[in-house]
Amino acid sequence: IAMYQAKKGGRNNLRFFDPQMQLAISARLGLELEIRNALDEQQFELYYQVQLDNSHAPLGAEALIRWNHPERGLVAPAEFIPLAEETGLILPIGLWVLETACAQLKAWQHNPRTRNLMLAVNMCAKRFHQTDFVEQVRSLVLANGIKPGLLKFELTESMLLDNMEETIETMNALSEIGVRISLDDFGTGYSSLQYLKQLPIDQLKIDQSFVRDIATDSSDKAIVRTIIAMAQSLNLDVIAEGVETEEQRQFLLDSGCTKYQGYLFGRPVPIDVFEKELNRN
Ligand code: C2E
Ligand code: MG
Ligand code: MG
Repeated sequence: IAMYQAKKGGRNNLRFFDPQMQLAISARLGLELEIRNALDEQQFELYYQVQLDNSHAPLGAEALIRWNHPERGLVAPAEFIPLAEETGLILPIGLWVLETACAQLKAWQHNPRTRNLMLAVNMCAKRFHQTDFVEQVRSLVLANGIKPGLLKFELTESMLLDNMEETIETMNALSEIGVRISLDDFGTGYSSLQYLKQLPIDQLKIDQSFVRDIATDSSDKAIVRTIIAMAQSLNLDVIAEGVETEEQRQFLLDSGCTKYQGYLFGRPVPIDVFEKELNRN
């Protein structure tokens, strides 16, 4: 165990065994088994958080995974997605998310109120680079009879950097299918103007860390204005996440951003609650 810890820390390292290490490993192993089990037992659920425009008209939602753990209750993705990525369990989980989202889009087709809602799905690097990913998307879109433009993938900047050539190929294939691509947490990674120009990206999603202090912090103001201006001049759509106050929304609007997501408008909620809220407006 100490040797693996030393290797993990890079080369020429030294680690002494500590019982804590054993505990951490057992806990991880336990969690891994539980995640496997959760898939079989259908303990995962998609929550939906509304995205809307300036006139408060709902444009769609972001699908966010939750784990209904029999003992721990509702578990947030930050607590299991990283391990799922490391162990490869993100592949079956991600497929389940995509299948569920496509089934939802299909169900929405029957109702004029929901027919044009877009659904955004979060993507991770491992799945994006999986060889049959594009095929999965194509066949799910076809099988569910979905308008491809209503399905949106949220990628992060860091995902684009590793294996640039393959990334370009996959993104072009996705855009041929007609699905949309949004860059999540924009501004927190290595924002490269080169890829913004080259890749078929539809939307930038301004990270919530910039939105948080937008009303008070002058550098956050400047960063957000710059992102919006850049999106506009590159003909990209732009949306802000983590909008919690009216002040933040007003600043975004004054700066030219007219699409929002955040607690000010709605928290991520189960599908029945989401649809109830839609009907209320
Ligand atoms: P993300 O895609 O950037 O999602 C936004 C996160 O911000 C969500 O947390 C959401 O609940 C939260 N949020 C939304 N509005 C507000 C707000 O006004 N204020 C604040 N403080 N927070 C807000 P959540 O649901 O815990 O998800 C965290 C991350 O987990 C996501 O970040 C995404 O990277 C990942 N994730 C979620 N679902 C999936 C999934 O199905 N697949 C993969 N690969 N990752 C997922
Ligand atoms: Mg997201
Ligand atoms: Mg984000």
